[in-house]
Amino acid sequence: MVQVVWLKRDLRLRDHAPLTEAALRGECVVLFVYEREWLESPEFDPSHLRFVNECLAELDQGLRELGGRVTFRVGTMPEVLETIRQQVGIEAIWSHEETGSDWTYRRDRRVAAWAKRRSITWHEFPQTGVVRRLKDRDGWARSWLVRMSQPIIAAPGRVLAASGIEPSRRMTAEDLGVGPGEKCAAQAGGETRAHETLTGFLEERGANYRTEMSSPVTGQTGCSRLSPHLAWGSISIKQVHQATEARRTEVRECKRQGVELDRGWASSLSSFAGRLRWHCHFIQKLEDEPRIEFENMNRAYDGLREREFDETKFAAWCEGQTGYPLVDACMRSLRKTGWINFRMRAMLVSFASYHLWLHWRPTAVYLARQFLDFEPGIHYSQFQMQSGVTGINTVRIYSPIKQARDQDPDGEFIRRWVPELAGFPTDQLAEPHKTPALPQHAYGCLIGRDYPAPIVDHATAYRMARERIFAVRGRADAKAEAVRVYQQHGSRRRPERRGKSRE
Ligand SMILES: Cc1cc2nc3c(=O)[nH]c(=O)nc-3n(C[C@H](O)[C@H](O)[C@H](O)COP(=O)(O)OP(=O)(O)OC[C@H]3O[C@@H](n4cnc5c(N)ncnc54)[C@H](O)[C@@H]3O)c2cc1C
Repeated sequence: MVQVVWLKRDLRLRDHAPLTEAALRGECVVLFVYEREWLESPEFDPSHLRFVNECLAELDQGLRELGGRVTFRVGTMPEVLETIRQQVGIEAIWSHEETGSDWTYRRDRRVAAWAKRRSITWHEFPQTGVVRRLKDRDGWARSWLVRMSQPIIAAPGRVLAASGIEPSRRMTAEDLGVGPGEKCAAQAGGETRAHETLTGFLEERGANYRTEMSSPVTGQTGCSRLSPHLAWGSISIKQVHQATEARRTEVRECKRQGVELDRGWASSLSSFAGRLRWHCHFIQKLEDEPRIEFENMNRAYDGLREREFDETKFAAWCEGQTGYPLVDACMRSLRKTGWINFRMRAMLVSFASYHLWLHWRPTAVYLARQFLDFEPGIHYSQFQMQSGVTGINTVRIYSPIKQARDQDPDGEFIRRWVPELAGFPTDQLAEPHKTPALPQHAYGCLIGRDYPAPIVDHATAYRMARERIFAVRGRADAKAEAVRVYQQHGSRRRPERRGKSRE
C-alpha cells in the first residue's frame, strides 16, 4: 500500500506539509495529473502548462535526489487514483486544500466520495490563510497571522518511490494537443526562481515598490513579480510573509543603528506585507461563495449588462485595438508576457465593464487565459469589484487618457507596445485621434487607417456608465444586498464607511 501525494497548486519541495507527512509513512506516489478538465477549461492557456512543467521539472529532480520522483498521468480524477489503487493499493491521499474554479470543486467532491467508498483517508492541509467552512469574517486577519507565523516545513529528508508504478514523463503542449500559445516572454517557473525572485525583490528591487507599483513602466521591476509562483505554488505565501517580516526587522534595525538605506524601504515593505494578506482575503471570498465565479456578488446588479454584450467591442478590447493607446498597450503587452501590474489590470477591466459596458464574465475568462498568475479566488473577486457589482466598493471608472498621462508620462510603454504610434510626440500619445490629419501623416500613422479611432467616446461612455451603475446602487434592494455582501466578505480592518471602499 502506498501514500499518494496529490500535487495541485503547490509545486515545491519545501514548506509542503502533505509531502513531508506522507514521506514519513512509507512508499510514496508523488502524483501530478494533467487533468482533462483543466486542459479543456476556458481559463486554460498553454503558458500555464509551460510554467507548471518548469516547476515540475525542478521538483522531480529534487525528489530524485531524495530517492523519490514525480509520477505523471493524463486523465481525470478519481479514475487515475482508481488505476493506481488497483496496481499497488492506496493507504492514504495527501494534498493541500484548493480554492479553485468550479471544475476543481466538483472534482474534489468526486474524489472525496470515491475515497470514502474505498475507505481511503484523504488528508488535506491548508497552505494559505484561507479558512474552510468559515463562519464569520470577524477575527479573520488574526487567524491569517497565526497561520503565516507557523514554522516553515523543511523538505523531507528522504522520499521512498513506490515500486510497481511507472513514473511516465512530463507532457508538453504538443503531447497534450493544446497548441504552443502566444506568450513568448512569460516568466519561467520553478522553486529556485521563486526564491531568487523573492530575494531580488526584498533586497534590491522593492525599495521603491510603493511609488513604482502603479506604472506599467516601473511596475515591471518595482513589483515583486511573485504572483505566478504564488499561484502555482513554487513558493508558499507563508514563506514570502516570513521573509518579508525578517526584512522589515532588518530595515528597522538599520534605521536604529543609523545605517544608510534607501528611504523607501519601510513604507514599501509595509505596503507589500498588506498585499500578502489581500491575496488570501480575496481567495476567501470564492471559498465562501463559489457561485461568484459566475454570478454577481450583489444580486441586485443582475440584468445590468447581460443583454447588451457587443461582440465587436469585446474583440477590439481582446486584440488591443480600442483606439485608446494605454488600454491597447496593456493588452498587447499582457498577451505576450502574461503579466501586467495591478493598476493597469484594474484599468483594463474598468474600460471593458464601464466604457464598453461588457459583462465581466466573458472578459474575466479571457483575462484568466492571459494572466500567467491566474488565481481564481483573486481573479473573480477583483473582477466583480472593478466592475462595480459588489455594492460595497468605491465605484472606480478609470480614464484611460489620464492614466496614460500619469502612468506613462514619457510614452515609453505605449511606444513599445503600440509601435504604430511611435512617431507621435509624447504630449499627443494619450489621445492621438485629436491630432489633425496633416501632422498624423508626418508622424507616420493615420488614425482610422493605421491605428483605430476610439471605439467609444470617453466622456459619453463615462457619463452613461456612472448614471447606470449609480441608479442600481441607490436602490433599496442593492443596499440591502450590500449589507449581506459586507457581512460575508468585507474586510474588518477598517471601520465601515458608507460608499467607501472597504477592501
Ligand atoms: C481584475 C483583476 C484581476 C486579477 N487577477 C489576479 C490573478 O488571477 N492572480 C493574481 O495573483 N492576482 C490577480 N490580481 C491582483 C494583482 O493585480 C496581482 O496579484 C499583481 O499584479 C501580481 O503582480 P506581483 O506579484 O508583482 O504583485 P505585488 O504587488 O508584488 O504583490 C505581491 C502579491 O500580493 C498579492 N496581491 C497583490 N495585489 C493584490 C490584490 N489587489 N488583490 C489580491 N492579491 C494581491 C499577489 O499574490 C501578489 O503576487 C488581479 C487584479 C485585478 C484588478
